[in-house]
Amino acid sequence: MKKTKQHFKTTKKSSKKVLFTSIAVVLVGGISIGSYFVFNSNPSPSQKQSLNESNSDSNLSLSQGQASRGSINDSQENTEAISVSKVKSSELTSEIKNSLSQNTNFELWNQNCEPNLIVVNKDNPLPKGYQGDIVNFKEVQVSNIMKDNLYRMINDASKEGINLWISSAYRSLERQETLYNKEVESQRKNACNLEEAKRLASNVVAEPGKSEHNTGLAVDFNGVRDDFFKSKEYNWLEKNSAKYGFILRYRKEKSHITNIVFEPWHFRYVGEEHAKIMNEKDLCLEEYINFLNN
Ligand code: ZN
Repeated sequence: MKKTKQHFKTTKKSSKKVLFTSIAVVLVGGISIGSYFVFNSNPSPSQKQSLNESNSDSNLSLSQGQASRGSINDSQENTEAISVSKVKSSELTSEIKNSLSQNTNFELWNQNCEPNLIVVNKDNPLPKGYQGDIVNFKEVQVSNIMKDNLYRMINDASKEGINLWISSAYRSLERQETLYNKEVESQRKNACNLEEAKRLASNVVAEPGKSEHNTGLAVDFNGVRDDFFKSKEYNWLEKNSAKYGFILRYRKEKSHITNIVFEPWHFRYVGEEHAKIMNEKDLCLEEYINFLNN
């Protein structure tokens, strides 16, 4: 009996042990599984933000992933970019990494930013009712906020034997519409329907309100030539334009972010201070605004 009792007690103890161990295992397991989901499945606040904004900003968020790549092939698929970004993100500097982890809502940004930092691209049209302070400049029109710097830049360049002339600067929405419609008409020959024609046209001419030229803050130099990058004028601009607050807006190595191919002739005014930092940190405008908002 004693033995049985003892045995019973032991068994009871063992049962308690087993029960305790089981609870512990379940708890630990539960916590681990919970943690797994918290850390692996649930988006972090910043991930959530990028997911929420992915509809309005999909090109940018996908493209930012691509920023980690050493060499860029413009035709590469966006889906590939996502996985590549995960693999190579460790190669980025922490500063840039932080700036890439956040997607600015450019629509909101454009409502309150310094006028020289407005972001206008395929996904972010000019805010409704936007009134740039547009003034005459030689044969074209530009934003008043960059007029003096543009004048100084062209003047200083000419003192060094560099002849800069402006092919295109401010374009009104009406002008942009005319250019765009003309391109749609011409694309209709290649396209099966109007939607397709519009899509093809928008690769060549920005839709009204989606061109930086609509802001008055962009200038195209010396005849919009593909080989402009081989010229001494381009070389001079590349070295000196930031001193006057201009950036080469559509660089080859950033085309996966801007969604615009290399345009060696297109310069954008952002102000001296910003242009300097963007060059130092190797950031295009979209990246720089993310960096500022981080
Ligand atoms: Zn341009």
